[in-house]
Amino acid sequence: MSVNKKIASLKAFEILDSGGKPTVSVQITLEGGAVGCAAVPGGASTGKREAYERRDGDESRYFGKGTKGVCRDIEEKIFPGIRGVSAGAQRLLDERLIALDGTPGKEKLGANALLAVSLAAARAGANAYGLPLYRYLGGLYGADVRPIPMMNILNGGCHAGNNIDIQEFMIAPVGAESFSEAVRMGAEIYHTLRELLLRRGLSVSVGAEGGFAPDLQNDEDALDFLTEAIERAGYDTGNVKIALDAAASEWAREDGYFLPKRAISQSSGDLIRKFDSLCGAYPIFSIEDPLGEDDAQGWKEITSLMGSRVMLVGDDLFVTDQNLLARGVKDGLANAILIKPNQIGTLTQTLEAVRLAQRSGYRVILSHRSGETCDSFISDLAVAVGAQYLKAGAPARGERVAKYNRLMMIERSF
Ligand code: PGA
Ligand code: ZN
Repeated sequence: MSVNKKIASLKAFEILDSGGKPTVSVQITLEGGAVGCAAVPGGASTGKREAYERRDGDESRYFGKGTKGVCRDIEEKIFPGIRGVSAGAQRLLDERLIALDGTPGKEKLGANALLAVSLAAARAGANAYGLPLYRYLGGLYGADVRPIPMMNILNGGCHAGNNIDIQEFMIAPVGAESFSEAVRMGAEIYHTLRELLLRRGLSVSVGAEGGFAPDLQNDEDALDFLTEAIERAGYDTGNVKIALDAAASEWAREDGYFLPKRAISQSSGDLIRKFDSLCGAYPIFSIEDPLGEDDAQGWKEITSLMGSRVMLVGDDLFVTDQNLLARGVKDGLANAILIKPNQIGTLTQTLEAVRLAQRSGYRVILSHRSGETCDSFISDLAVAVGAQYLKAGAPARGERVAKYNRLMMIERSF
């Protein structure tokens, strides 16, 4: 195949995500004939500083959440501005996309529109070179480092209709010898948890990311179930650790926090003490968004109290934005960053956030969103940048396992 990588044509499609909401997919064809497709995900517990996710706002379709107009603008406003740009010049392309939008938060064209184009171009570029995506994105840099999966096997918060306020209870098989072994361990624990819940007469229906969503007594009850499932599946809390995503921005109020399902008010200090005590009682190695996106003081305190023992992950806090991360590094907030390309809207800016995190000694977790598609771009990206972790939900449901399956295939190709 010719390696002419100039963008020749583009099509944008309104498709559904795993939650039945419209999203955007783009297909790009290069002059040399290579084709690249990508689909973007959408979140439910979105940080308020995330780049803008554009929707049509036409109430007669999908309750205003349609993306048909977004797709039309991709074809009519974005494409003419990038036609003829080389898909191999990702930075130039992304700068062009940012300039076409012209706003800091991508409010005009939408981060979802820009990202779909940015990722589809990267895939087309990889195909033009005849390289697997992870190798194209990463070259030899980091390309044989396999991330550890963080699997969300018990859902709460706004991802589930149960009575648990913490959004995600995850397992991370840190002692696995390979990614495939980690997936096997995680899936065995998932099925063991299902049996334990059934035996106690609890619901095994699942939340947005495929984890079970039973009504439970409290957070300790959830952690007891996870610990028991780990042990009954034949593992121990040395080789399989627990991670939480509190998604605490969802609880933030003017004067502290309100956990809606239990109807409890908490101060920042209460939450810090609660998480510290949970980490003492359970094998929790990581907590994401233990505090809200505006609670810099709380983040500073929890990082100085627990940062040497526990991974403290900024999701809503940093929203994959290198400027917010730079400020956080300076102020001593968190020690790891969640990377979600659709929070920032281009591949180049995503890579910049990863690079700054790595230079600053922050650990990197590549992440899906609650509303996903079967696109597994983040799996290739995780390998390419040498991310320590990949967070892609339960080892169940097609859009979640697409990420884990892709990584198992990459692992076999090393
Ligand atoms: P979201 O949740 O995709 O619904 O924002 C994922 C997360 O908070 O990590
Ligand atoms: Zn999160």
